[in-house]
Amino acid sequence: MTKPSPIKSLLIFFGALVILGIVFSAINLNAPKPAAIDLGTLARQITNGEVKAVTVKDSTLNIVTNDKKDEVASKEGGESFTSVMKNLGVTDDKLAAIDLKVANASAFSNWMSVMLPIVLPILAIGVLVLFMMRSVQGQNSRAMSFGQSGAREYGKNDKNRLTFGDVAGAAEAKEELMEIVEFLKSPKKFVAVGAKIPKGVLLMGPPGTGKTLMARAVAGEANVPFFHISGSEFVEMFVGVGAARVRDLFARAKKSAPCIIFIDEIDAVGRQRGAGLGGSHDEREQTLNQILVEMDGFDPSIGIIVMAATNRPDVLDPALLRPGRFDRRVTLDLPDINEREMILKIHAKSKPLVAELPLRKVAERTPGFSGADLANVMNEAAILTARKNRKTIELDDILMSIEKVMLGPERRSRVINEKEKNIVAYHEAGHALVFHEMPEADPVQKISIIARGHAGGYTLKMPLEDKRLHPKSAFIADLAGSLGGYVAEVEAFGEANVTTW
Ligand code: ADP
Repeated sequence: MTKPSPIKSLLIFFGALVILGIVFSAINLNAPKPAAIDLGTLARQITNGEVKAVTVKDSTLNIVTNDKKDEVASKEGGESFTSVMKNLGVTDDKLAAIDLKVANASAFSNWMSVMLPIVLPILAIGVLVLFMMRSVQGQNSRAMSFGQSGAREYGKNDKNRLTFGDVAGAAEAKEELMEIVEFLKSPKKFVAVGAKIPKGVLLMGPPGTGKTLMARAVAGEANVPFFHISGSEFVEMFVGVGAARVRDLFARAKKSAPCIIFIDEIDAVGRQRGAGLGGSHDEREQTLNQILVEMDGFDPSIGIIVMAATNRPDVLDPALLRPGRFDRRVTLDLPDINEREMILKIHAKSKPLVAELPLRKVAERTPGFSGADLANVMNEAAILTARKNRKTIELDDILMSIEKVMLGPERRSRVINEKEKNIVAYHEAGHALVFHEMPEADPVQKISIIARGHAGGYTLKMPLEDKRLHPKSAFIADLAGSLGGYVAEVEAFGEANVTTW
């Protein structure tokens, strides 16, 4: 919730006062006002027998004349009405003829007339001070929340709880992490036989291979709370804030133990220390030190497991990796063909696929894709289907999405003149021919001269199966194929006309 600024509140307060003033004066203005007369006129009216009644209230005289008109006059505070009139020559019998009333001011209005001038300014000052205090408090609480970790918490029995069933493939990683799940479920069993329980698990792997997903699945399997924070969220402009956040995070976790703390992109704070001379890395180092201190500090039997993810394990500080800290390392690799098929199946679950759509074919066409890429392909296919106003997703939609995910969206509308189109066509054909002729190169799947993403045209080649090892000859074939475009341009248009394509 955002608080209104103090200046805004003050303006509202004074605005309200002004409006109230205007309303009250308008009410008073609308009331008919009696005619004001001086004391001489009043004396003359009484002498002439024109006055019916006079009501004296303090120094105000409210007069009613015989012809029912209201008048008002004022006299000095100390003197009585009759003596004033007598001084002005009104006779006793004339005075006796009028109906004279003396209204005593009520105790309340007397009291109000004394107190109001004192109370009102005090009240106004009080309100002012209150506003100021509130705004200062607001700033204070903001300053206090600086040191809070801001980690997102997924509670126990969360309805979006993930399990290992939501993570396709990665059988070995699951096996390794099953141990952690069992420990979180019943830490005492392990402690009883003297087993040292791991404190930290480092998930390593390229981006999008499901590290976050896996960590959440571990929490879901064990049904424990899950605290999720990114390494970069610790680091602020001010030195010491990161360390305070680490302390806060562990304090929160201790209250909910057993639980999992997940630090995404730990390389943001966990880089090798001492590399940046000159103090500019102070904040990061302090944060890292605090993480190490906290990890050493807690008693493993309370059941806090710190999981961290990185795609750069090589840059991590060795202190993080020593036994007793992140000594368990689990690698999540790019999925192979079978795993890709399983991931596609998971992401196809909530989508209406055309009957018997061979997801295996999609898996074959997507070597090198990560889990996140595959999720993206399925999502793009669904968007494409909806845009074509169709109800079910077809294989063609998915195949088109693969290219979109790889190279960016098609740019059919880009204006390319005939001459350039010709050059692009020769260039791409050159690539394709050379790739085709080299047995070590991956087979060409598609050639296009329609602009897509950054590319003005492209030659798509893909391995038929997953390859982990790449021989030197394959790299040479790739180089040759890459130069094929240049050679084709030279052959077709001459050396002097080779373009930047
Ligand atoms: P990382 O943390 O490794 O960068 P994420 O865990 O954030 O990757 O994965 C991003 C998305 O990719 C997930 O939300 C999920 O939809 C999809 N994904 C990745 N790997 C898998 C997998 N093995 N099974 C199912 N979905 C996956």
